[in-house]
Amino acid sequence: MKILFDVDPAVADAIASETRRQNQTLELIASENFVSEAVLEATGSVFTNKYAEGYPAKRYYGGCEFADQVETLARERAMKLFGAEHVNAQPHSGSQANIAVYMTVCKPGDTILGMSLAHGGHLTHGHPLNFSGKMYNVKSYAVRADTEQIDYDELAGLAAEHKPRLIVCGASAYPRIIDFARIAEIARSVKAVTMADIAHIAGLVAAGLHPSPFPHMDFVTTTTHKTLRGPRGGLIMCRQEYAKDLDRAVFPGTQGGPLVHVIAAKAVCLWEALQPGFVPYQRQILANASALARTLLEEGFRLVSGGTDNHLMLVDVFSRGVTGKDAEQALERANITVNKNAIPFDKNPPMVASGIRIGTPAITSRGLKEEEMTEIGRLISRVLRAPADGTVQQQVRQAVLALTAKFPLYAARMAASGV
Ligand code: PLP
Repeated sequence: MKILFDVDPAVADAIASETRRQNQTLELIASENFVSEAVLEATGSVFTNKYAEGYPAKRYYGGCEFADQVETLARERAMKLFGAEHVNAQPHSGSQANIAVYMTVCKPGDTILGMSLAHGGHLTHGHPLNFSGKMYNVKSYAVRADTEQIDYDELAGLAAEHKPRLIVCGASAYPRIIDFARIAEIARSVKAVTMADIAHIAGLVAAGLHPSPFPHMDFVTTTTHKTLRGPRGGLIMCRQEYAKDLDRAVFPGTQGGPLVHVIAAKAVCLWEALQPGFVPYQRQILANASALARTLLEEGFRLVSGGTDNHLMLVDVFSRGVTGKDAEQALERANITVNKNAIPFDKNPPMVASGIRIGTPAITSRGLKEEEMTEIGRLISRVLRAPADGTVQQQVRQAVLALTAKFPLYAARMAASGV
């Protein structure tokens, strides 16, 4: 960043500090990851200079030959990786991807059936404060009180009663397998269109470690920056019959010029996901989540649904008398980053919350394995047993610094920049 330090030291300083923060903390936010240096390079490339409204070979701007090349690569690689009939690589984010699908299928006021945010769904699946909740008539399904797993019977009942135009599945905070085949069957019975938002589990799906939404779902949306380990962005896949309408819903429907530098980086992450090393990486994410969950259970914590099948777990910290908010802050002081999260049937408001969400994609990218998960689970437990104890936080921070030093992030880059 030599040029940036000369031109704009304030921004360069913030980037250097963020690099140090990422290097010296344990990143347990389930929706985050560390991209490869190849993905970073593509994201920071000269494609950021280029306007390319339209699609490959059908652009509204000249000079798009190489933009066409990277967008075609991204689309073809995503089709191969997920077995999709059609791919749109342009959504700027996961939310944009979901907006485009709703615009393809629904008119304002149509009924959408999605998973409640309070039970693990995403804002864009029908929350009243989100465009989805304002534009559409939203009905929400939840998890069962006894198992804390999706209540498929309730889902079927709501579908039969309200005849939604679209059934949305997928989640932001759900630690179990989602039964796409069963949801598609329910949708067929009421002639609803289906969409799976696999933002969180895309890497697991690509690696064959979570059942695929194909061929069950009509539309599949994802972010590229979570388990898929790519740049921040979105991707939409769908059946060929919806391809034209979907592409129109993205551009000109809801977006202008695509972020070609990000599309180039998506192409790189999809290439990486097609390499032999990707499956063992995803397998390690699962092994790490399972080891961390086991340690937290041994330490006496209650996990929502009793454990995890995927890359994340929800820890009911309030059952030990600590709010999610206090837990997040205490852990942050010990260099462990998590986010507070509502748990199903939460009695605390969302900004306080009874749980924390913990995920393993980022620490797995750093090379940590089961042995370190046991250590991390114990460190978390130490902090949460005494969330107001600064001495404990200081001691745990030292242990975290020793651990992160053993697994440096972007080692070559940091050595070169002196961070
Ligand atoms: N869908 C799900 C299931 C998510 O978890 C998220 C992000 O957390 C999104 C969509 C939205 O993605 P973005 O933040 O890129 O808009």
